[in-house]
Amino acid sequence: MAEKNYRAELVGVFGDPVDGNPTGVLEEAGFAAAGLNWRYLTCRVAVEDLADAMRGMRALGMRGVNLTMPHKVEVIQYLDELSEAARIIGAVNTVIARDGKLIGENTDGKGFVRSLTDEGIPLSGKTVTLLGAGGAAKAIGVECALAGARKLNIINRNAARGTELVETISKHTPAEAVYLPWAGTAAIPADTEILINATCVGLHPSVDECPDIRYEDIAPGMPVCDVVFNPAMPLFLRKAAARGARVVTGLGMLTNQGALNFELWTGVKAPREVMYEALKKEFED
Ligand code: NDP
Repeated sequence: MAEKNYRAELVGVFGDPVDGNPTGVLEEAGFAAAGLNWRYLTCRVAVEDLADAMRGMRALGMRGVNLTMPHKVEVIQYLDELSEAARIIGAVNTVIARDGKLIGENTDGKGFVRSLTDEGIPLSGKTVTLLGAGGAAKAIGVECALAGARKLNIINRNAARGTELVETISKHTPAEAVYLPWAGTAAIPADTEILINATCVGLHPSVDECPDIRYEDIAPGMPVCDVVFNPAMPLFLRKAAARGARVVTGLGMLTNQGALNFELWTGVKAPREVMYEALKKEFED
């Protein structure tokens, strides 16, 4: 009998809470479709256990991990190198083990930009209005700017977080960035060409909530995007669609960041359609 290799390559996600994280569904669907003996482990790692978890990851020879709340910034101290995007954003959602080194990358914003490209929505020269200035907003804002957006309007309640994102974009990219306070119902700036909800408002189980903005400011045909992927069609996007907007769901961003991670880890082209369908089915069930 020919010698067989029963050893699976391991990747996964460390987070807390993490039980509701669906990334394993899409990665495992991709591994199966590509014929790869890889497994994606969804691991609950408490904040005080991250150092041990990263040591464990090295000891087990894991090929990489995703990081989600609350580890995206803290993990940096355990890594050997950072990609340019991860350095600018100051957060890591993906670690790649390569040649004995752990490399930190941030694919959240790249996944978002790719979801716009998939829909044929150009960013070059555009004015983008971003609701939120948290982790997802930072990754999206920086990558939109690096992808050629001309201007970013950042609307956020917390002024310190909003102005910090403006400073980050202004320092590291050629784009112009402006902070707009969010008190009461926010007006959408008249120069907006693409509107993005990068807050967690509308996320399950708060499905009856939506960002407090003037929905009548949304112009028909305007691309309106949401990072929230559960539900796939949050109230924000339904209200935008009722205004005639062109809506882009958070499932595309999630699939694309998952596909980028797949490619970084395996070196194999990701079967994106299969991964997207697996995720979509998960949310329909
Ligand atoms: P953070 O906690 O880092 O940031 C949350 C942001 O939401 C802050 O800007 C916060 O504003 C804002 N916010 C919260 N509540 C309100 C409210 N009631 N009104 C206005 N603004 C509000 O979270 P993340 O950035 O990590 O995650 C945000 C969302 O992105 C989550 O739903 C997450 O699931 C999703 N996500 C989706 C991904 C995908 O692939 N589709 C990938 C990564 C994240 P303030 O600063 O004023 O408190």
